[in-house]
Amino acid sequence: MATTIGLQDLPPTPLLSEKHSGIPERWAEQCKESKARLYSLKTLPASVPREGELPVLPPGIDRPTFNTAIAELKETLGEEHVELNDKPLVDGWYMEHPNTHDTFHVLEQSKLVSSAQVYPGSVEDIQTIVRWANKYLIPIYPISIGRNMGYGGAAPRVPGSVTIDLGRRMNKVLKIDGNSASCIVEPGVTYFALYEEVQKTGLPLWIDTPDVGGGSVLGNCIDRGVGYTPYGDHWANHCGLEVVLPSGEIMRTGMGALPGKNGADNPSWQAFQHAYGPSVDGIFSQSNFGIVTKMGMWLMPATGHQSYMITFPEEDDFEQIIEIIRPLALNRVLGNIPQLRSVIQELAITGRPKSDFYDGKDPIPMEVIKAHAKNMPCGECAWVFYGTVYGPEETRNSQLDIIRQEFSKVRGSKFFLPEDMPEDHYIHPRARICSGVPELRELDWLNWKPNCAHLAFSPITPTRGQDARIVHEIVTRLHKKWGFDSLPTWCVSGREMHYIAEILIDRSDPDEKRRAICCMREMITEAAAEGYGEYRTHLIFQDQISRTYGWGNQALMRFNETLKDALDPNGILAPGRAGIWPKSYRDKGWEILPEDEPRTSVKTNGVIH
Ligand code: ADP
Repeated sequence: MATTIGLQDLPPTPLLSEKHSGIPERWAEQCKESKARLYSLKTLPASVPREGELPVLPPGIDRPTFNTAIAELKETLGEEHVELNDKPLVDGWYMEHPNTHDTFHVLEQSKLVSSAQVYPGSVEDIQTIVRWANKYLIPIYPISIGRNMGYGGAAPRVPGSVTIDLGRRMNKVLKIDGNSASCIVEPGVTYFALYEEVQKTGLPLWIDTPDVGGGSVLGNCIDRGVGYTPYGDHWANHCGLEVVLPSGEIMRTGMGALPGKNGADNPSWQAFQHAYGPSVDGIFSQSNFGIVTKMGMWLMPATGHQSYMITFPEEDDFEQIIEIIRPLALNRVLGNIPQLRSVIQELAITGRPKSDFYDGKDPIPMEVIKAHAKNMPCGECAWVFYGTVYGPEETRNSQLDIIRQEFSKVRGSKFFLPEDMPEDHYIHPRARICSGVPELRELDWLNWKPNCAHLAFSPITPTRGQDARIVHEIVTRLHKKWGFDSLPTWCVSGREMHYIAEILIDRSDPDEKRRAICCMREMITEAAAEGYGEYRTHLIFQDQISRTYGWGNQALMRFNETLKDALDPNGILAPGRAGIWPKSYRDKGWEILPEDEPRTSVKTNGVIH
């Protein structure tokens, strides 16, 4: 039974002024409400006693050696900057998340855990930690904020790794440059924090934020996350990295490799991405080849904007809708990364649980969803398209004319502006996100189930109706087979779309977790057989997905392994991340592949528990 917790019973979320990952004052009230909604459905206890000797050790390291190594690290960095993971695990919630494990555990909570967390205060500290890891052969796992929810959160892939929580002490916006419209951030700068810093400058600049603003600008970017302004492709808009390599050496990419006058940073570091020679930035995203300590990011000159929403009544019309989207996206009439969302999300984003809409345990039928939508501001429909146009009013109006005209070809479509919708409708936070203002509202669909976690299946398709149909059909069928509601969204970036299907899981239900894993495995396999691959995934699917990119008898993986072995001969940095295992781990049973399923456990030390 859900415990009813009143607003007054919940401790407040730390403010940004108190903690680097905290909530800025201006969102404090919204944060309090989000938290109360989520906790009102929580039936799991805050923590459970842990079993076995703690902390969980890194593979191949005995306890005396581990204790010696930790004592040495404490001695070098300071006692207070090294913390053993030997206390009960607390999942918390988005704004107060753990750095000890995956808060959205799809395996047992205790499986993907660190042995310790370490908090470097400088690049030199990071170099010290890396050299220490090489000395003791202890795997280390860097995180920036650790809110990579749905993809593993703060958890390391190898249990017992030492998590380097970079964000706690390295969280400054080092520079905001109004001339080149760019900034340099340390790992612990969240979208909320960067927004605040940009506001303080008074410069007419926007940041680009993903759906929720608590992640780090750096961590999200190197995991190739997306946002929704015209700068929504985060990796495409980064400019210049500073990286500590697994050897402990430090390097800068792009123009940053050329020292500025008298030892200054290169003046073009944040102005030109490619510089000279091989473009190596890419190998530091979704990889385990280096620890990124600074990153340049482009900011968007502020401009006029107008958000809108279009509803479509027929579920089967999505092919036609996508065929209309493609030329509009390619011609940049659609100014941003718009979303085509299933109407079920209009129900979920209200923050009300599924049980308010449907009694059954099975996936909620479309007729039921539509019947509810009829009484909601969007009205009876199957799809909702959220878009924004940018620029001066005249430009926006002419773009909107074309958009209205093109989408009116879909029978029964209806066009809305934010002012047509009530104040609490989702279009308002959506409009803010699409003009670079971080938000929390997207968390509300996590109230669909008690103890709700999400797991994203996110394949890429060309922006073409026939491709969309193949993937959508696989997802719909397999969600139904494994008993999950399907909540698809297409995020359209132009020539391609990220199809994001979130599986919602009750963390207290082991069988639901097992089914979610089975569903993911089958979707990955079936989509790959049709030629579609995912752009990003949770830790436990990284082996499977990386191997679907197997053209030329796994040529890409062999290349990545060659790089890994050259850069990290001791295999200490995030072994297994992105499916890339160093030679000391390779083919020793660490990989988790579909033939291991159905299982809800993970291999540690090559043994299946
Ligand atoms: P966020 O900051 O958005 O909450 P995370 O800190 O969880 O995201 O980062 C996402 C993933 O990217 C991490 O799990 C980790 O594997 C990797 N990562 C994050 N920060 C760094 C970094 N500074 N250097 C190398 N890898 C990183």
